[in-house]
Amino acid sequence: MPPLDAIAADHDEMTAWRRDIHAHPELGFEETRTSDLVAAKLEEFGIEVTRGIGKTGLVGRLRAGNSPRTIGLRADMDCLPILESNSFAHRSTHAGKMHACGHDGHTTMLLGAAKHLARTKNFDGTVHFIFQPAEEGLGGATAMIADGLFERFPCDVLFGMHNRPGLPLGKFQIKPGPMMAGGGYFDVNITGTGAHGARPESSVDPVIAAAQIATALQTVVSRNVRPLDTAVVSVTRLNAGGAYNVIPEKANFGGTMRCFSDATMKLIEDRMRALAESIAAGFGARAELDFRVLFPPLVNHPDETQFIADCAAKIVGDANVRRDMVPTMASEDFAYMLQHIPGAYIQIGNGDGDGACEVHNPGYDFNDAALPYGASLFVKLVEERLDRLTG
Ligand SMILES: [Zn+2]
Ligand SMILES: [Zn+2]
Repeated sequence: MPPLDAIAADHDEMTAWRRDIHAHPELGFEETRTSDLVAAKLEEFGIEVTRGIGKTGLVGRLRAGNSPRTIGLRADMDCLPILESNSFAHRSTHAGKMHACGHDGHTTMLLGAAKHLARTKNFDGTVHFIFQPAEEGLGGATAMIADGLFERFPCDVLFGMHNRPGLPLGKFQIKPGPMMAGGGYFDVNITGTGAHGARPESSVDPVIAAAQIATALQTVVSRNVRPLDTAVVSVTRLNAGGAYNVIPEKANFGGTMRCFSDATMKLIEDRMRALAESIAAGFGARAELDFRVLFPPLVNHPDETQFIADCAAKIVGDANVRRDMVPTMASEDFAYMLQHIPGAYIQIGNGDGDGACEVHNPGYDFNDAALPYGASLFVKLVEERLDRLTG
């Protein structure tokens, strides 16, 4: 089944926008050219634009009819600090910056939907087009929320989508409940007493304490987290001393953790702190844990998950919408928005043909053939949710 005909007619124009954005990638909170481009397009379509929500973020508001119902649609705009290895004409012109996660495609799909909806207005209510900056770990969603996003632009429901390399073109996948992991970073700083390497009896050795704590932390997942609750604790860096004959005064190590519920995240933090502090104390040293959650788990609301899957099925057929996808250990800051507004996040196929490669890879490119599918889904969400007949 094809995407909406009217959207398909805009495919060439959308492809041109997408390649222009791809050629001019901007890092988180630096998306000035991108947000200028988005704002200019929205205004050209006759959509009211508010800039500066979360620094470089912006929101377009489109109203039709009198219904008080509202819907929010969100796309991200930032790129990654990666040197692009592609040689095609629309490759990055900003050295060391690249749209390697397909946010150029997400922005374009939402723009394509905005153009169509402003032209046809086949709905009754208000649509908020949310163009978010800084998704890649810099806190763009939080910055928009802190600027009053949902008070100034109320949304009854909220939807977003991300491309998925390897998932064939024209297919979507989603699951209700936890779909993407929450995660963050931690540091453990250990203070002992330095001494000559040949006189350990005068030291409190922070290296030994660090090694014991790092080993003990592996029991958090194996002994404390319920086996059916997936979690990861990885120690990925460790630093101490600099000389062969000096027992240092300090040692520190750090790493990352991932899991699928706030309760498990809290459990991991509590167990890590107890182990670090008590093991260090047992050696006569002192340990401090710095635990930083960067992304909460992304939890899809069940009703909105079914709704977006049903809308996708109306575009590509039910056989092309998987409703029980396997959760991913990757994270996504749309999770913060879903803590405020009922909604769902869906994955759209980026294709599995030649050259399809994983996101965050220097050879990645968003597949322009996916643009009409994603734009059609955004349109369908609005026309079904703000149906003129039931308004
Ligand atoms: Zn990414
Ligand atoms: Zn991404």
